Amino acid sequence: MQERLITSLRQPEDLAAEMLRPTRLAEYIGQGRVKESLSVFIRAALSRGEALDHVLLFGPPGLGKTTLAGIVASELGVNMRATAGPAIERPGDLAALLTSLEERDVLFIDEIHRLSRTAEEVLYAAMEDGCLDIMIGKGPSARSIRLSLSPFTLIGATTRAGMLSSPLRDRFGINCRLEFYPPEEIVLIIRRTARILQLKLTEEGAQEIAGRARGTPRVANRLLKRIRDYALDWQRDEVDRDTASEALDRLDVDRRGFDYLDQKVLRAIIEKFEGGPVGLETLAAVAGEEAGTLEEVVEPFLLQQGFIMRTPRGRVATAEAYRYFGRVMPAREEAPQERGLFDEDGIV
Ligand code: ADP
Repeated sequence: MQERLITSLRQPEDLAAEMLRPTRLAEYIGQGRVKESLSVFIRAALSRGEALDHVLLFGPPGLGKTTLAGIVASELGVNMRATAGPAIERPGDLAALLTSLEERDVLFIDEIHRLSRTAEEVLYAAMEDGCLDIMIGKGPSARSIRLSLSPFTLIGATTRAGMLSSPLRDRFGINCRLEFYPPEEIVLIIRRTARILQLKLTEEGAQEIAGRARGTPRVANRLLKRIRDYALDWQRDEVDRDTASEALDRLDVDRRGFDYLDQKVLRAIIEKFEGGPVGLETLAAVAGEEAGTLEEVVEPFLLQQGFIMRTPRGRVATAEAYRYFGRVMPAREEAPQERGLFDEDGIV
């Protein structure tokens, strides 16, 4: 499979991006509503001297969930332990993490929807009653003991809120949905990154990149770094509109921020399935991608841009998608239930 430059999933090269992460709420650009409510709850928790209620952050990859978790911990003035759903193999791993937390610390679990069922059950009592039930011994002499934990805040991040079991979802007092960033906020993020990297970037250069960054800070930062390499190679001492645009063309990221995969998916719906509806699994098989990747990484942006719609019977290409390929959408009988836009919980 070809590597995608504009994937919003974390890549090894992004590890060096740690230095780009904002560490305080005031430095975190955009997501105004989320920031506002978090700052109210953080202030309230601080003034009461209590742990912040558990927080669930959801939204597509690369929008700043991990960054925000770190910020919440630093605003609370506590330590953060970070792990991820798939990294917790046994309930004991989770118990070890929970017992290592100090009073009011933050435990961050990325991809929390991938936590095993048994680990999830450990979390229920920990989140709700602040305790841990542990089985000691085996067979007839086995008994369970209850350990109390220091009050803590769990911050869970997920790209798939719909995949979380409802008992787990219900135990989060604060729910925040992160949205794709509008271009003007991506411009601010790119300019901030350029400042940190000590790269000269014009306003038009930043706008050119923002237009193609899929409303995603991780993608924006990655594009900027690649463009910086081109600028160096071309011996240009600043990144202006032309430099950004030429470099992005070389990188095969088009004016809408689409790459080969978005185009392949759209083409498949239009050419192989007459515009849809087509089921996710079938579409994934034709595009040669995993259904999960399509659903988590490719689809959200195409949906947000109005290029596809989700219907109960599958994905449908919109007139916008046809226009993108210079085609006209054929008139088609539309079933009433196909007109709505459904989110992942199937709620209109
Ligand atoms: P997620 O956990 O949602 O996949 P991350 O928190 O890892 O996303 O964010 C990806 C990168 O984008 C981080 O390295 C960070 O530098 C940058 N970033 C994310 N959100 C913002 C923001 N609001 N302001 C500035 N930079 C951001």
